[in-house]
Amino acid sequence: MKKRVFSGARPTGSQHLGNYLGAIQNYVSLQEEYDCIYCIVDYHALTTMEGREAVKTLQPNIREMALDWLAAGLDPERSAIFVQSHVPEVAELHTILSMNTPLNWLMRVPTFKDKVKQQPENVNYGLLGYPVLMTSDIVLYKAEVVPVGEDQLAHLELAREIVRRFNYLYGDTFPEPQAKLAHIPLIVGLDGVQKMSKQLNNHIELAATPEETETRIMTAFTDPARKFRRDPGHPEACNVFALHQALKVVHADELAKACRNAEIGCVECKRKLAQEINVMLAPFRERRMELAGRSSYVDSVLKEGADRVRRIAQRTMEEVRRNMGLV
Ligand code: SF4
Repeated sequence: MKKRVFSGARPTGSQHLGNYLGAIQNYVSLQEEYDCIYCIVDYHALTTMEGREAVKTLQPNIREMALDWLAAGLDPERSAIFVQSHVPEVAELHTILSMNTPLNWLMRVPTFKDKVKQQPENVNYGLLGYPVLMTSDIVLYKAEVVPVGEDQLAHLELAREIVRRFNYLYGDTFPEPQAKLAHIPLIVGLDGVQKMSKQLNNHIELAATPEETETRIMTAFTDPARKFRRDPGHPEACNVFALHQALKVVHADELAKACRNAEIGCVECKRKLAQEINVMLAPFRERRMELAGRSSYVDSVLKEGADRVRRIAQRTMEEVRRNMGLV
């Protein structure tokens, strides 16, 4: 029997190249080997949102994100794709695990401290309880494997601690989830400084047209020391080159040499990059248009996904209540 993988992502709407190279490609390849559960975590998104205006962006964002996942190759026959809040058992398990998690474990989580700094006007309980909800997401479906980047290892270790404590108090109930360390490349945005992000408007949207893609790439920052076409460039200090490398283009070495010898200008180099991205994304864009044209397709995938995993969730919760003596 295949091992079960769980991964969740916040509903951020239409996806960008950083999402694709950093997570979605990995999601698609995991389907070959694992029984995959991919969740759009809308409850988690609420920890950084306040008010109806903000929350009303969730539904379109969920659909756009799911559409991109499907167009990129997530296969609803092989993977359950669903929305976190469509399986309400997760909220029950979160409540139960909250009683089982010492407060000081949560207070020491660095991301909690970061969030407090980022949104001092909205330090809500959900921010503190975030790792407990994350643990509930994983163990509700008895997932054994969680794909993570290096920076998320500490979160998963906390999830494992919460599981160990529950199993110690109430008997073996949950498997301890194991990290599957993925090499998640850091894709820097077009500003050449920060991680690619929609919020920072330094991204390349997957669903953009080829022309829009080229226009965006033309705005990218390059080697700051190269002022004129005749100046030798430093590809190692250039974000456009980093993107060429992230796409694993075969001629990256030649490009680097041409840049160092000033045999290629930045405009030409960016055009090449746009061309590579457009060629790589052409099948995705075609499939996305086709899926978007199928009425209610995304909604039905999300519903079927939730129905499928809810059966697992219900069995888990029966076991939890029984082991705890709640029934
Ligand atoms: Fe960067 Fe390409 Fe310009 Fe070299 S030629 S500095 S790699 S954009």
